[in-house]
Amino acid sequence: MAVARVENRTKTFGPAVDLSCRECGQTYDLGPSFACIECFGPLEVKYQWDDSADAPPVSPVTREQIEAGPPNIWRYRGLLPVPDDVLDKVNLAPGWTKLVRARNLGRELGMRELYVKDDSGNPTHSFKDRVVAIAVEAARNFGFHTLSCSSTGNLAGAVTAAAARAGLDACVFIPADLEEAKVVTAAAYGGRLVGIEGTYDDVNRFCSELIGDEAGEGWGFVNVNLRPYYAEGSKTLAYEIAEQLGWRIPDQLVVPVASGSQLTKIDKGLRELIKLGLVPAKPYKIFGAQATGCSPVSAAYKAGHDVVRPVKPDTIAKSLAIGNPADGPYVLDIARRTGGAVEDVDDSVVVDSIRLLARTEGIFAETAGGVTVGVLRKLLESGRLDPDADTVVLNTGDGLKTLDAVTSWARPAAVIRPSLEAFRGAVAGA
Ligand SMILES: *Cc1c(COP(=O)(O)O)cnc(C)c1O
Ligand SMILES: [Zn+2]
Repeated sequence: MAVARVENRTKTFGPAVDLSCRECGQTYDLGPSFACIECFGPLEVKYQWDDSADAPPVSPVTREQIEAGPPNIWRYRGLLPVPDDVLDKVNLAPGWTKLVRARNLGRELGMRELYVKDDSGNPTHSFKDRVVAIAVEAARNFGFHTLSCSSTGNLAGAVTAAAARAGLDACVFIPADLEEAKVVTAAAYGGRLVGIEGTYDDVNRFCSELIGDEAGEGWGFVNVNLRPYYAEGSKTLAYEIAEQLGWRIPDQLVVPVASGSQLTKIDKGLRELIKLGLVPAKPYKIFGAQATGCSPVSAAYKAGHDVVRPVKPDTIAKSLAIGNPADGPYVLDIARRTGGAVEDVDDSVVVDSIRLLARTEGIFAETAGGVTVGVLRKLLESGRLDPDADTVVLNTGDGLKTLDAVTSWARPAAVIRPSLEAFRGAVAGA
């Protein structure tokens, strides 16, 4: 009864039909699995259009149907592995963040058409709400009672908030030395927040052990055993950027790289839009951005390597501090295939770039946004980014979460008595 099974799956996971191994292509039923039994490669969601005999395959949704949808990621539900009735479910409904035409920053950098996709506008102020929203629906489908994750900071808060809204328990794990604002916000939504003495990579390893243990039974780790579903949430960044540009793909995108999941799925989303005829086909370049203090993918790119050698992170861009990035090799493939690059900037450039974006566009980015804007500048200076091509740079988090990065310069101009005399003396003439 293969047909009935497909119908059932289609109902529960929308247009998704299978999980398939990125390395060897082996397919698996849609379940809480994340690694190939044959070759240990990562699994990813496959859709009905991937195997379609039609060329081009028929899109399950039209532009008009998408445009008539809600102002959040669920307008793209026809392209995501979520249940048909996702609109009736209680969740944080993230996405549909602003695509800001950055005229001032563009002018300062000598660029013709620059946009900032500002994902700080999500419910917990980072892009992570997108990926968690998809993982929550998968967790419900699989009957998990607890949501969990290993986090570099933003994910922990996105998970505790989403669990609160969905009525699930949460137990999330972070390196103990994260920014205060990320610790506090993650804890504020309830659930259990656990600090681990070690780096993110230690936290992640610990979570993998927990999955095999009875202590982790019934738990959905959004970025481990739910990772194939979680990762698909990043496609919505590609969909939104294209729709907000009037259903066209920009020439160049600058994307931050931690594990590399977001960058690889933005590419997947753009390819799907073209494949399904939702946008005109055209070439585009994807550039990956890292902080020099944790730049294993950039280092591999520059050395011409296909493998990524793990590093021990040391950077203020903690949200991107993954020393052993799971999707690093795929980021290298995409940068090379599209004619982009992977580049890194040091922490002082990160801080300057946060300041530049704030001063020119009124957007206060977290350190990850400083990394992308810094890399944008560096690529322009070295001539690898075309200043006359349409460019989108991502800001994936809110500066309020990384205040320590800017307190050296973001201070009052003066503190004075409430008198004109004091003002004239201290501020007006200065
Ligand atoms: C998690 C995160 C990213 C991207 O992470 P990937 O692991 O590469 O998908 C980017 N920016 C911020 C602020 C993040 O928290
Ligand atoms: Zn495999």
